[in-house]
Amino acid sequence: MNAVTTEFAVKTIAVRNPATDEVIGEIPCLGVQEIAPAVKRASRAQKRWAASPVSARLKILRRFQQLLCEQKDSVAAIITREAGKPLAEAVATEVLVVLETVNFLVANVPEFLQTEDVPHGSPVMKLKRGRLLREPYGVIGIISPWNYPFSVSSVQTLTALATGNAVVLKPSEFTPFSSLEMQKLLVTAGLDQDLLQVVTGDGAAGAALLSANINKVIFTGSVATGQRVAQAAATRLLPAVLELGGKDPMIVLDDADVGVASSAAVWGAFMNAGQTCLSIERCYVHEKIYEPFLKACVEKTAKLRVGNGVDSATDVGPLIHQRQLKTVQTHVDDAVAGGARLLAGGKTLPQLGVNFYAPTILADVDQSMRVMREETFGPVLPVRSFRTEDEAVDLANDSEFGLAASVWTSNRKRGEALARRIDAGTVMVNDMISCFGISEAPHGGVKSSGIGRTHGRFGLEEMVWPKYVDSDRLPKMKKLWWYGYGPEFGQQMNGFIELLFSKKLTNRLRGGLKSTRSYIRRKLL
Ligand code: NAD
Repeated sequence: MNAVTTEFAVKTIAVRNPATDEVIGEIPCLGVQEIAPAVKRASRAQKRWAASPVSARLKILRRFQQLLCEQKDSVAAIITREAGKPLAEAVATEVLVVLETVNFLVANVPEFLQTEDVPHGSPVMKLKRGRLLREPYGVIGIISPWNYPFSVSSVQTLTALATGNAVVLKPSEFTPFSSLEMQKLLVTAGLDQDLLQVVTGDGAAGAALLSANINKVIFTGSVATGQRVAQAAATRLLPAVLELGGKDPMIVLDDADVGVASSAAVWGAFMNAGQTCLSIERCYVHEKIYEPFLKACVEKTAKLRVGNGVDSATDVGPLIHQRQLKTVQTHVDDAVAGGARLLAGGKTLPQLGVNFYAPTILADVDQSMRVMREETFGPVLPVRSFRTEDEAVDLANDSEFGLAASVWTSNRKRGEALARRIDAGTVMVNDMISCFGISEAPHGGVKSSGIGRTHGRFGLEEMVWPKYVDSDRLPKMKKLWWYGYGPEFGQQMNGFIELLFSKKLTNRLRGGLKSTRSYIRRKLL
């Protein structure tokens, strides 16, 4: 394995397959003594990398893409083995997203990194030429979650590398092997191994990475950890992107196609066993179609097959671990105790394994329940009805989260108008979750869902800092605002302001004359 290793790491972590609970490998828990030198090596390699032509960098990414395309099945198997999701999802929501990202980077990074002219509006400033350069940060520290162990870390890593950065990546301790596989493919494709180093371990390794000499951190994970990361970053003014949790609402309007919307709700709530930051976590349905919608959801849920993700018949895999299972059960129990109707599921499935939970539908939930306020992150679809569009918008916005949302209607214009009123980083009309697979679309949230963006143009901007370079076209001319003020300076500025901003033409002409005369009389130092 290409991970940073150590002979001295005392602690190791056993990584388990969540479907079988079998140990599938062990990883060292690295600390500052291994991670700080890794960042140093990355920093040295980055200087050479940033100086190399963009085309050479992208060539390596292209080779990586080919290798990934050839090895898609084995990569999907690694993802499923450690994250539990069905192989079909590993291919569609992880491998495919990464392959597509390479296309996006190859098509966009060369132009993105080109020097950009900054035209000046002010007439005096027209004597200078302004240009904007985009400089890579240096070493980007990436800290990743377990729910999309391949796509989240790969998209961020590839974007950082393409824009001239090195990466030190701390994957989740529950799913380290997907990131290690990505690293292996990149090194096989020709990447200097110092440019991408994978440092394994739990939260302590993440904290050690934050204390090392990285130049920016891209963190994806829970709100609670995100707050800790933000605090650590603040102590050294480390720039940070935080991709945090979600509680995405789905609004189904009275004119929506019940067949389509119910299929969407079932998939949006249960795919990846509900462990998607963009999962449907709250569903609001117009009262006119509420009961038929619920009936259709229940019928479709009954047809889902829960099991080990390696079985091609499986629709819903296990949860990642016992802690997650407990959160889900607690939210469901709380809702039922509060008066919600349990229409499906609501129980663990011990006959399948220790981490399985039945896809669950709750009707008549209310906004105060934990299942409507906290991130459940499990296969639960809580539904309630609404009467008016205003009420639906209020309910959708009544959350500390703001990652994404969806609106379902047969009238696209109506859906788009409603989308503008929802406080979320992304609002989809008649679809959900698939925005993550659109490489051009910025991904990220508002409120507690995070700060900054990954993916698309905004994601590229997060990997660079803007450097403004200005050069004066008249190097032999002293600038009119320099020393040598005297009474003429006041008159000169006075006239200049009138010339530029007065509404009256006569004032402007007079101002111009006054300004020119005072300038000629002035003696600049
Ligand atoms: P988590 O916050 O428990 O862990 C995320 C990462 O942070 C792990 O690698 C972990 O080891 C590390 N970590 C833990 N403590 C740390 C510390 N003190 N300092 C630095 N690093 C530390 O999250 P998780 O359970 O792995 O992932 C699930 C969460 O991620 C959910 O809330 C989900 O919504 C969110 N998520 C968000 C997005 C998004 O794009 N917005 C995408 C995927 C997942």
